[in-house]
Amino acid sequence: MTTAVSAYAAPSATEPLAPTTINRRDVGPNDVAIDIHFAGICHSDIHTVRGEWGDVEYPMVPGHEIAGIVSEVGKDVTRYKVGDRVGVGCFVDSCRECEYCLAGEEQYCDNPGMVGTYNGVGRDGQPTQGGYSGAIVVDENYVLSIPDAISLEAAAPLLCAGITTYSPLRHWGAGEGTKVAVIGLGGLGHLAVKLAVALGAEVTVLSQTLKKMEDGLRLGATEYYATGDSDTFKKLSGKFDLILNTVSANLDMADYLGLLTLDGTLVELGMPEFPMAVPASALIFGRRRIAGSLIGGIAETQEMLDFCAEHDVTPEIEVIEPTYINEAYERTVASDVRYRFVIDTESLR
Ligand SMILES: [Zn+2]
Ligand SMILES: [Zn+2]
Repeated sequence: MTTAVSAYAAPSATEPLAPTTINRRDVGPNDVAIDIHFAGICHSDIHTVRGEWGDVEYPMVPGHEIAGIVSEVGKDVTRYKVGDRVGVGCFVDSCRECEYCLAGEEQYCDNPGMVGTYNGVGRDGQPTQGGYSGAIVVDENYVLSIPDAISLEAAAPLLCAGITTYSPLRHWGAGEGTKVAVIGLGGLGHLAVKLAVALGAEVTVLSQTLKKMEDGLRLGATEYYATGDSDTFKKLSGKFDLILNTVSANLDMADYLGLLTLDGTLVELGMPEFPMAVPASALIFGRRRIAGSLIGGIAETQEMLDFCAEHDVTPEIEVIEPTYINEAYERTVASDVRYRFVIDTESLR
């Protein structure tokens, strides 16, 4: 048995998203049914919809920044009750048995991997469909609690963009006395700045131009430099303990690694189309590291939401109607959004 739900789906890699109806599974013993109120638009949605990251089963409903209200719970659910404010992020299941799942790092599950919130295959063998829809059914272990201090629309982008930047900041020890640089001031970058500032780090934004400088400083960065200006790399040489690269463009790695101090780390969060050349000398001199980081586990995502509530960290958003999704995609690709589109899914409920 299933329940029909309104949604916006991509019919193919090249057609615009369009209204459709999908089926959600009935609420099982450990499931939570959620009325979706808001869903963020992540750049990953667009890459996936357009087939840029591999095979997609169409029609496909994207959306992995989901915020809503619990409408029904299964008989064995203990964590949530009807009326609770909850969220769902990038995955809705994992094996729960491998060493990574047991360590609360479900995003790195290797048996065979986490089940994506969309374009994945659930335990029932059915394709998963995401948050551009009126409702979703998720196992309670993969549902997050949204603190009262955060509105549902502001919570949505935290479930991907927030945790994607919070996890590496925590892992590499951003805090009092550390200098952090954030490359790119977009959906991820603007949250990286706010979170790093809230953690107590001294934050610098590195952006192609100085166009968004006023915003960057308002968000809490103490400095803002244009990477289009070659003087920037001389001036900031050896300055940073940690650099988060939030842009998916290919960078001159020698230039950026040169900005790290001894034992500094540059973390890749975006996925550029082509491999980047890394001169070994840029790593050897200064014992520097390049690393990557993928979202965060369920426990850490909850920690991030609680941290955001406590420190008043919320994304800057533009709330849109579902009918605007295709235009929002074009504007997201053109970096013409400050800083995250969030779909009000009321008309789909
Ligand atoms: Zn995302
Ligand atoms: Zn696992």
